[in-house]
Amino acid sequence: MNVRCEHCGAFRWKVENKALCCANGQVTLPPLPRTPSLLMKLLSGTDLKAKRFRVKIRAQNNALAFASLGVNEEILPPGVYCFKIHGEVHHSIVPLMPDPTVNQRPKFAQIYIYDTDNEIENRTQWNDGLDQEILSDLQRLLHVVNPFVKVGKTKQKPF
Ligand SMILES: [Zn+2]
Repeated sequence: MNVRCEHCGAFRWKVENKALCCANGQVTLPPLPRTPSLLMKLLSGTDLKAKRFRVKIRAQNNALAFASLGVNEEILPPGVYCFKIHGEVHHSIVPLMPDPTVNQRPKFAQIYIYDTDNEIENRTQWNDGLDQEILSDLQRLLHVVNPFVKVGKTKQKPF
């Protein structure tokens, strides 16, 4: 990828269509917001906390997700890790309330709305081995910066 778009600066392969990135300058996107300092420290820091974060980054992402990803994953022979999907990709969104008939604890989006006093406990029950301090920091960050969390917090509690 060594051909740079004269309009947006994106890199592309020599054989790719010139208009693939920004339609020859017809599309301009606003700049991305700055990465929150907590997340930047965790992503690029060299301290033990940052290293622990990066080791379990996918599990922490899953613990804070609003929905789960549904795919038919193709299992490949051993080698370099590759997440290969066969067929459709879809998101599974749970009902806003846990099922009371099976005494189920909240998960995914339910955690942001239901039993918010126990968010960390509810998250870790589905994701073993996560650092609670890191998870708590990330959760507080989401409560500040994520507009969907804010919407969930404005709803009246069900009980
Ligand atoms: Zn471009």
